Amino acid sequence: MEIERDFFRPPGACDELEFLTSCSRCGKCVEVCPEESILLFPLSSGARLVNTPYNSLNLTPSLYFWKVLF
Ligand code: SF4
Repeated sequence: MEIERDFFRPPGACDELEFLTSCSRCGKCVEVCPEESILLFPLSSGARLVNTPYNSLNLTPSLYFWKVLF
């Protein structure tokens, strides 16, 4: 079952349901991203998304991310 979303997970992320159940929300991906393009959802995003990572294409586009997409 695929969950609809209006944001991008970091490159290589599995489908959304599996991602939500496997991500420990540790934030390590934010620390190690060389492009500094990964952000964590804030508490205001709700319990399902809080502290999970996403790629912000508007704020900090990742060259690696664009290479994966196109
Ligand atoms: S927050 Fe990032 S590094 Fe930590 S488990 Fe989730 S995807 Fe992996």
